[in-house]
Amino acid sequence: MEHASLLDIANTYGAPLYVYDAEKIASQYQRLTDAFNGVEQLRLNYACKALSNLGILRLMNSLGSGLDTVSIQEVRLGLLAGFKPESIIYTPNGVSLEEIEEAAALGVQINIDNLSVLEQFGSKHPDIPVCIRINPHVMAGGNSNISVGHIDSKFGISIHQIPHLLRIVELTKMNINGIHMHTGSDILDIDVFLYASEILFETAKNFKSLQFIDFGSGFKVPYKEGDIETNVEELGKKLTKRFNAFCKEYGRPLTLAFEPGKFLVSEAGYFLAKVNVVKQTTSTVFASVDSGFNHLIRPMLYGSNHEILNISNPKGRERYYSVVGYICETDTFGSNRRINEIKEGDVLAFRNAGAYCFTMASNYNSRYRPAEVLWHKGKAHLIRERETFDDILRNQVDISAVFEEKKPAVVTK
Ligand SMILES: *Cc1c(COP(=O)(O)O)cnc(C)c1O
Repeated sequence: MEHASLLDIANTYGAPLYVYDAEKIASQYQRLTDAFNGVEQLRLNYACKALSNLGILRLMNSLGSGLDTVSIQEVRLGLLAGFKPESIIYTPNGVSLEEIEEAAALGVQINIDNLSVLEQFGSKHPDIPVCIRINPHVMAGGNSNISVGHIDSKFGISIHQIPHLLRIVELTKMNINGIHMHTGSDILDIDVFLYASEILFETAKNFKSLQFIDFGSGFKVPYKEGDIETNVEELGKKLTKRFNAFCKEYGRPLTLAFEPGKFLVSEAGYFLAKVNVVKQTTSTVFASVDSGFNHLIRPMLYGSNHEILNISNPKGRERYYSVVGYICETDTFGSNRRINEIKEGDVLAFRNAGAYCFTMASNYNSRYRPAEVLWHKGKAHLIRERETFDDILRNQVDISAVFEEKKPAVVTK
């Protein structure tokens, strides 16, 4: 999307602001669909924890996507956005049996990731089909915070527990209609992914009434020029071949499902913030923006490197900056970044701000969460208003009557 359009949008709606490019989301959706066009039945379920604005969900629905949800609230958002219950998969971790029953009552596909709840759910509702989340114990990527398939991970039912799982299924006579894995948020190596898939196929042979196999997500997207990204075309070729062969062996065609979050929305998002202060210190030049990790926590939480552009002065001479926020503790967005010369009042654009950015925003420092805009066919649509002071007060209970008024203590000599 053009930087001039971003600047216009910032001028209209103010900063800080999130802007999402609908065309980029659609092209990513198409790219993944094309990569798997050799599969008879493909299902993409957008993992909406990445970005859950109703406007985005409606866009996904219009593209033909399903929805991957991790809480009953996300299920409800999906239904509100027009998704049919059968287009929604509910993949929670560590939630109560009651919440799973609530989701099941809404008619969505249930995915269970532990034996305790599986046994309870199967005993009470043997007729409701259930997908099971398997942990294949494969490390995808190197960072243990984002690799959820390894041995210490809390996610999924271990493949070593398959005998117990089969016993539960047999005793409860429950119906397993899908198997699932989600190995982490960074598939670096396609071969590692294919290896985990073999474990899933092996597991699948134990179940006779499967409808789908869900390979989760973890597609890596580039954050800057030269970054490694998952080669989805190569993955498509290799996994399609293997999947089709498996279906033959299994005896009938199954649906191949993915649940991409980051891949669909990361690059479509821009976070716009205005520079309040340019501060020269003895060691660097700080550019302080009207935001902080309350609005964009990924750099501080995960060390994410979001490219930062000065869209107010795109032709200016480049200089080194440390871009920081206004939160009263360290909130560095980027150190030693070469950026076109920054003046106070300039608008900076942070790239890759579509996934896990707004959805992780908070009111820390009692600041308002930003507004959100969807850029669709050359037009800006406000999809969330900026918060106001009322939002800060909402749900706070006034207990002023509890406290007696006291005169301030005056120290007299
Ligand atoms: C978060 C999540 C995803 C999406 O992961 P991305 O890396 O954003 O694509 C998919 N499936 C499950 C179960 C998740 O929890």
